[in-house]
Order: sequence, then structure tokens, then C-alpha cells
Amino acid sequence: MQRGSFQWMKSLNKAIILNKIRTSEPISRAQIAKETKLTPPTVGTIVKELLEQQLIQESSLGESQGGRKPTMLAVNTSGFHIIGIDVGLSTIQFIVADLSGKIIDEQEESLIMNVTEEEFLTIVMNGIQKLIDKQSDLKYIGIGVAMHGIVDAEKGVAEFAPNLKLRNIPIKEKLEEVFEMDVKVENDAKAFALGEAWFLQQLEQKSMIAVNIGRGIGAGIVIDGKLYNGEHGIAGEIGHMIIDIHGRKCSCGNNGCLQTLASGPAIVTRTLEVLEENSDSLLYHWKKEQELTAELVHQAALEEDQLARQILRETGNYIGIALANVVHVYNPSTIIIGGGVSKAGEFILHPIQEVLKHSVISEKAKATAVSISRLGEYGSSLGAVALILSELFEPEMTDH
Ligand SMILES: [Zn+2]
Repeated sequence: MQRGSFQWMKSLNKAIILNKIRTSEPISRAQIAKETKLTPPTVGTIVKELLEQQLIQESSLGESQGGRKPTMLAVNTSGFHIIGIDVGLSTIQFIVADLSGKIIDEQEESLIMNVTEEEFLTIVMNGIQKLIDKQSDLKYIGIGVAMHGIVDAEKGVAEFAPNLKLRNIPIKEKLEEVFEMDVKVENDAKAFALGEAWFLQQLEQKSMIAVNIGRGIGAGIVIDGKLYNGEHGIAGEIGHMIIDIHGRKCSCGNNGCLQTLASGPAIVTRTLEVLEENSDSLLYHWKKEQELTAELVHQAALEEDQLARQILRETGNYIGIALANVVHVYNPSTIIIGGGVSKAGEFILHPIQEVLKHSVISEKAKATAVSISRLGEYGSSLGAVALILSELFEPEMTDH
């Protein structure tokens, strides 16, 4: 695909028809015209173009309504592919997915310490090139990048990536120049939220918040089916919601942010603080042989270690308090939790639900649905894929 290939999608009618097919497939031309209120000739012309571009295909024959059976249309999910990239703390995950989000291949690259902008971009470009070389018979339609920190999604610039200590990385510009396809860049938690909304078809639910809890904590807010950025792009930074004004100092300079209490590193810090007085805990013994991690705390909890279970219960309580605040501000229909810490599953989910039940002021909102992401370790990279998919099928979703 050549650069600017999305231009042919910029026609609103085309996007409307393509999205109608995606959400209602298999569907006939007549049904599309009826449901989109576009004229049958318009639908006919655009469907012909979409068929020529191999974005859709003719599938089975539908039920006849008097005349001959109509030809049904469906998205040609394997006609084009998208590269999704999740820039983590020490590694970058690259995936190739088809238009339905099915992962075809993946690649991982390590990030070196104190990387320069040039080195970082080279690592990203090498990872993309390796995947394209491995899957060279596929047709690519775009690259999505989920990046931690503050991102100017419109310009595709990573304004501040605290883990890399880099500022103003022109990711979109550089990748579009080299790979000649559309590139979208978004904050990782926001991309994750978009992916959840897109792949789990929760857009109908209108409002949801997806919280990414790993080394840091961030969230993406979807309102009326659209990613909400806020005036200055920091909507959803719940890692810096202040939970304990007398608490530990956060990297942002404030005290007692959620991130200082419930992130992976915070779980380790809180465990170490009480480990000496808990010599009967498995963790007390494990720590003598290896560095303590949040994963080990989870593992000990699975082995019924009381200290580990208490630490995770408290972690769930802190997240629950933050989410009760979120419910009181946004009142979302659904809350989804992803990231490394979400692997603790029920150990944190149960206390979160208990806090909501106890603290939220409306009977109905007390029961706000909270669940662990089913996208697993691919949450952010599939979210990056969704940045391109939503642009293709529903360009208004990510409009800023
Ligand atoms: Zn903070």
C-alpha cells in the first residue's frame, strides 16, 4: 500500500458503508441502503470500489424476498494487515494482526538503557522490518503505536516518555517516511481502552474506562463510543489520582498518588516494608534467593500465603478507592482492568468490587461492572491495531 492510501477512505459514505458491513455482516446491498439511508446507486458504486480494493468480499447468498437471492457482503478480514506496537519499559512488542484483530505473528525487541531518540527509532524500525520480512506476502495498511507517557496523538509525537527519559520523538513522521503507510500514535492506556471498546464491541455501552496497571498506572476513557482526551490530553491519568495526602512521594512530585500504592513496583515496596515482621511468610524466604517482584507476591498468594493475600487485598482496596472516585465523576457502564497487576485476578478484583459496593452513593452504580481484560498481554498492542482499524472503519471515533 502506498502512503496516503487512506485518502480513499476519507469519504464519509465509504466509511459508513464499510462500518455497516463490519457490524452487520453478512449483509446485502439493499439492506445497506435501507439501514444507512444512502441511495441504492450510491451503495452500488461504493460497494463496487470496496470489492475492487479487496476490503470486502461477496459471501453466501441471503434469503430471497420475492426475487432472486441477494449476494451478501462481508469484510475481507485477511485482505489487509496492520502492525501494532506496544512500547514497554524494557521491551517493545510488535504484532501483525488482520482486520478482525487476529494475531498472525509477533516479534519482540529489547530496549537498551539510556537510549537516544535515534537509537529508539532504529529499534522500532528494525522490529517492524523484521515482521514485514517474515510476513512478506501480506498487504499492510498501517502501523499503530501504543506509547507510554504523554502523546500528542494528532501529530503522532511522543511528547514525554518518562521511562525512556526522551521528549518530542516524531514517531509518526519518521515511520511514515520509511514505511510509506499510515501511522497512528497514542498513549498506551488510551490505546488499550480503544482496543477493549473495539474488539469487545462495547461501544454500544457508550461509556467505559479501561485501566492499565503495570509499572505505572493509566486509563483510557471512552465516552459515547469515542476516546476522551480532555483539554490537554491528560484525561485518564488516574495513576496520579491522590489517594493518601500523607503518602509516599510520587515521581510526579505529589504525595500518595495511586501509582505509589498499587503499581507493580509499589506492591514490592509495600511488601518489603513489612517483610521483616512476617518471617513466617513464603516471601520472607523467597526473598533470600531472588529479587522480590509483584509476580512473586501473586505466586505466594496462590499458595495461600497470608501476607501476600493481604498485600493484594490492600492493593485492590486502593484501586477500588480510585475507581469509586472515577465512578462518581464519569459514572461509566463498565470498568476493565489490564496490565501486569491485573494478572492477580480475583485477589484484587474482589476487594475492588467490595469498595465500590461500600463507597459508591447510588444503588445501581455500586454494581458497576468491573472485569479483568481478556486481551491479556496483547492489550496495548491490539489497542495500537485498533487505532488504525477505527480510522479505517469509523474515522470519527478517534477524532481529536
Ligand atoms: Zn503522581
